[in-house]
Amino acid sequence: MDVVERAAALRAHAEETAGCTRCALAQGRTQVVYGSGSPNADVMFVGEAPGFHEDQQGVPFVGQAGKLLDKLLAGIGLTRADVFVANVLKCRPPGNRDPLPEEIAACEPHLFRQIELMEPKLVATLGNFATKLLSGKPAGITKVHGYEQEVVLGSRTVTLYPLYHPAAALYTPSMLKVLEEDFARIPGLLERAAEAPAAAPAPAAADEPDPESVQLGLF
Ligand code: URA
Repeated sequence: MDVVERAAALRAHAEETAGCTRCALAQGRTQVVYGSGSPNADVMFVGEAPGFHEDQQGVPFVGQAGKLLDKLLAGIGLTRADVFVANVLKCRPPGNRDPLPEEIAACEPHLFRQIELMEPKLVATLGNFATKLLSGKPAGITKVHGYEQEVVLGSRTVTLYPLYHPAAALYTPSMLKVLEEDFARIPGLLERAAEAPAAAPAPAAADEPDPESVQLGLF
C-alpha cells in the first residue's frame, strides 16, 4: 500500500469503528477514540484506553500523560505527526478504571486491524495492558520494559518495545528516568528494523509460548 491508499484504508476503518457496539463501553462514551498520527509512521505507540479528555476530544493522549508523551517524543527528535498513537480500548472506561478482559477481547480486532493497515516497523507498548495483549505473554511491564522482542502480528513479524506508561511515570521521578532511557533507544531500534525488514513470520522459540496464541486473536 502506498501512503494515499493507507490513509484511505485507515480513514475507512476509523469510520467503521466509530459506530462500534461490541462492548458495553459504547453506552457511556462521547465518541470512539480511534487513534491519531501519520498513516505512514514507522513507529506506533499503543496505550491503554481513553480518559476524560480523550473521550471529549476524540484524540488519544491529550491529557497530562499526553503532554509527557509529546515531551518524550521531542527528546528523540519526533513529534506526534511522525508517529501513530492508539489504545488497547477505543472507548473510555467509566471513571478511568482498568480495562476488563471482555472489553479487551471485544476491542482487540480494531487494534490488530490498525496494526495490519499501518505495517509499523516498531510497536511501542505503553504500560501493562498493551504489552500483555500484543506480546501474548503475561510478563508485566516492570520486568520487560526496555527489552525489544519480535512478535508475529497477523502475517508480519514486528518489533515490540514495551515501555512504562507515561501516566505512571508522571509522578514517579525514578520511573520517568527509566522511561526516558528506554525512549532514547527508539531511533536505534527503528534503524535496525529498517535494515532487516520484517517479512517472514518468526519461528517460535522452543521455550516460549506459541505465537499462535497471539495470532488467533487477530483478524
Ligand atoms: N490517554 C490515552 O489515550 N491512553 C492512555 O492510556 C492514557 C491516556
